[in-house]
Amino acid sequence: MESDRRGVGTRAVHGGEERVKAGHGVTVPIVQTATYAFRDTGELCDYMEGRIERPEYGRYGNPTQAAAERKLAALDGGESALLFSSGMAAVTTAMLALLSQGQHVVLTSDCYRRTRQFCRAVLSRFGVEFTLVEPDDWDALEGAIRPTTRLIVSESPTNPYLHVIDLERLVTLARKHKVKTLIDSTFATPVNQRPLEFGVDLVVHSATKYLGGHNDLLAGAIVGGDGLVSVVRELQAILGAVPDPHACYLLIRGLKTLAIRVERQNASALAVARFLAAHPRVTRVHYPGLETHPQHAIAAAQMTGFGGVVAFEIDGTLDDGSRFIDAMRIPYIAPSLGGVESLIEQPALMSYYELAPEERAAVGIRENLIRFSIGIEDAADLIADLDQALAILG
Ligand code: PLP
Repeated sequence: MESDRRGVGTRAVHGGEERVKAGHGVTVPIVQTATYAFRDTGELCDYMEGRIERPEYGRYGNPTQAAAERKLAALDGGESALLFSSGMAAVTTAMLALLSQGQHVVLTSDCYRRTRQFCRAVLSRFGVEFTLVEPDDWDALEGAIRPTTRLIVSESPTNPYLHVIDLERLVTLARKHKVKTLIDSTFATPVNQRPLEFGVDLVVHSATKYLGGHNDLLAGAIVGGDGLVSVVRELQAILGAVPDPHACYLLIRGLKTLAIRVERQNASALAVARFLAAHPRVTRVHYPGLETHPQHAIAAAQMTGFGGVVAFEIDGTLDDGSRFIDAMRIPYIAPSLGGVESLIEQPALMSYYELAPEERAAVGIRENLIRFSIGIEDAADLIADLDQALAILG
């Protein structure tokens, strides 16, 4: 696909769309069908012989899905994109497509929990080995690479500590060893960061988060070069984790406002992070936009905004954290992030509930940690809400 050099806001609205659409509509139609009819056997044979391009069966693609994929490719500056039924379907299908028995993958240790679990519990059963390394330990990262290493998987910023990895350095190291790179860019979105521009091979998004943006759909995406994306597409046709046309329509609709939503979330999150950093009952704030963040300089160099998630630690216990969260009036207590509604959670009681406190400590999840996904409400209201809820801690 020819690269779209317009601004990210314009690409969000018009990127990848046909100018003239079915029924002369301005919006992309939902093609709600499972299969596609051939006019006659001649047309079927023309399709099978590759003389014409057209849809065949829902598991191999859908016109609404294709429009959403073109828009995502335009936003991230990739040749191709491929949509899935969830972010985890994107991660798992891509890794299964790119790795074979006897091969090895390096993961940075603060990757999404389920991605690590997939390597530990699933890939290992099929003879794919993995090594976890601390994201800032470049010697360990290089040392972990073996002759069988095919892929380095990382995330930036990470969940929940908003760690930022130096993408240029990562790509240089990976290329030196002829290893491919996959970056989960869910927290950044193409508005704030475009890893492909740094030479990353494949970008993954949980489109459930900012891309959909309204807490109303599940989807995942990969974006990259035609070659890699088509290898993953072929496996998707077998594994079958395809998105529904209606979810694709909701995604396109959500993407139209991606730039303005994320710009507002960036601004509100920075204001919230500054407020929290100055609050006496808050001991630590994790937000790459703060000058005190350990990778602030890297984030400022490779991102145009720092995202809408702020993680922070309160001066108190797990129960104090619950009392504080229960006193918040605007955000919902829910997993997920990136939507128009603010969401708040204690990672120790949400994603890591089943772990004993010592096990949580071992994976770095602190009991007093709060993750706040900032929506598009007014920043002043969110700050006032935080202020009154922190006040109950005395
Ligand atoms: N990657 C990251 C960084 C996530 O936060 C999530 C979900 O929380 C996923 C991947 C998985 O996405 P989904 O929930 O859409 O399967």
